[in-house]
Amino acid sequence: MADEFAFTTGHTWADFLATRTNVHGPAPAESLTTAEDVRRWLDAVGLAPDHAPRPDDLALVHEVREALRAVVLTRLGHPLPPRSPDLAAATAALRRSTATAEHDPVTAPNSCAAALSRIVTSATVDLGHPALRFLTCAEPVCGKVFSDRGDTRQRYCTPRCATRARVRSHRGKSS
Ligand SMILES: [Zn+2]
Repeated sequence: MADEFAFTTGHTWADFLATRTNVHGPAPAESLTTAEDVRRWLDAVGLAPDHAPRPDDLALVHEVREALRAVVLTRLGHPLPPRSPDLAAATAALRRSTATAEHDPVTAPNSCAAALSRIVTSATVDLGHPALRFLTCAEPVCGKVFSDRGDTRQRYCTPRCATRARVRSHRGKSS
């Protein structure tokens, strides 16, 4: 059973990336470990598919998410976490995902794959929008993607990461 989900980035696709945290560290934390987790998460963002996610959808969810992460981080000039797909494989996975046909994009997605397709599409639209700016958390283990919401330049995704970075730098100095 996964922990509760966080919706802190301001964008569904970035919250999707954030279902796996501490990705740059030795022990990433996975929130989507079962089909039921996927169902709950999609439900929470208004993308509950007509056909509930099945256990064999889980691999697709992880594949699409890590492909999206690799493409987004590359675009933002951020290093990729260990075991990321290479850019060609990631791009191909996203192409496959967005090729999922949906005849009615207004109502609920008909499948888990269709829900993923909408998330990927929203990411590519947002990343190309000149008025939107996305940042990656400066806490090295975190690297979470979030949107720049204010006039002050935010370096960390959450106060928690700011504190973590402060503690790390303090330790670095005292050792
Ligand atoms: Zn962070």
